[in-house]
Amino acid sequence: MRTRLESRLSGLTGRPHCVLTGRGAAAIWLALKAFAERAPERTGVILPVTLCTSPPAVVIHAGLNPVFCDTDPETGNLCPKAFSKLLAERDDILCVLAAHLYGEPADMPAIAAACDRSGVFLVEDAAQALGADGIGTYGDVTILSFGHTKIVEAGGGGAALTRDPVLAAAMQRKADALPEKSPKASAWAETYRSTYYAAQSVWDGSPEAKEWVGAVCRAEPGLYLYRLAEGQTGLILSAVERLDAEIAGRRERAKAYDRAFAGMGTPLKRTGAGVPWRYGLMLTSDVRDAAATALREAGIDASCWYPSCAPFFGDRGQYPGGEAIERGILNLWVDDRADEARIERSAAIVSNVLTGAAANGGRQYG
Ligand SMILES: *Cc1c(COP(=O)(O)O)cnc(C)c1O
Repeated sequence: MRTRLESRLSGLTGRPHCVLTGRGAAAIWLALKAFAERAPERTGVILPVTLCTSPPAVVIHAGLNPVFCDTDPETGNLCPKAFSKLLAERDDILCVLAAHLYGEPADMPAIAAACDRSGVFLVEDAAQALGADGIGTYGDVTILSFGHTKIVEAGGGGAALTRDPVLAAAMQRKADALPEKSPKASAWAETYRSTYYAAQSVWDGSPEAKEWVGAVCRAEPGLYLYRLAEGQTGLILSAVERLDAEIAGRRERAKAYDRAFAGMGTPLKRTGAGVPWRYGLMLTSDVRDAAATALREAGIDASCWYPSCAPFFGDRGQYPGGEAIERGILNLWVDDRADEARIERSAAIVSNVLTGAAANGGRQYG
């Protein structure tokens, strides 16, 4: 079953070598550790500042330093200008992690060309984008996740894929040495969750609160680093079998959101090559929180991901693109819970909030 899953994932990415792990984050760690053996004098890993906390956390657990790069507020992906500048001014960069955030491909041809010129490794983080066009084409390693809310959701699992047999063997050796997932790892995951939400309720105006979350990320590598449980293999395989229908459904539902939300906010840019992970809508910061609250009160899940990741790891630099996303983003679900009626109802709720804010001259939510 393991071999069948490996071949299936190799087929989907065009990368013949597949190393399975317990999480996507562990897959990133395997790649970083293997790169570090080849270029031990380099310790910096460039990451987009709009990201969940697990990639920078495993950079630290690999003994390396996260170097954040601003993102493009139209997509959430690496800002090409900020990226070229950063790569040109640093000589300590080992690797770049380019994520296809919200399922929309980053500009991989340009990023890969810049990495080649600088002799820097490139990880394609496709944790939110399995099934997007062109996945696996650029970079040294593609990583996938089968965790909660991913496109192929199996309750956990990750993979690192490559065309380089030597790199694959190095990653496989490290994967084989990882422990099984322990009850402690689950307890740490719960600690992370509760710390995150506790910190979130106070971090506006108190950036220190974000560092509590970062402290949990740093505390225990076992939160991220474990091997794939045998029982997950079948679950991932059957979820992968539904991938084509999943992609088609998500693309259709994103279009339905476009129609229902026309004139409200600005949707994140989509080229059609991506697989929407969630529907992203940029609102002005005075109404975004009110819109999210109104949706949740009506029983509709909404998220505001991602806040800029740098402050969690003690970096208080300026990232205007990432900060614009942090203030403006509203994400709505595009999985099969989001039927036409729910999409229409979501739009009506947000429309009400916008109308109320306009009638109050913005004061109500200011
Ligand atoms: C979820 C995610 C990861 C990590 O995957 P896990 O399986 O949760 O460890 C990495 N990068 C991105 C962009 C993700 O969304």
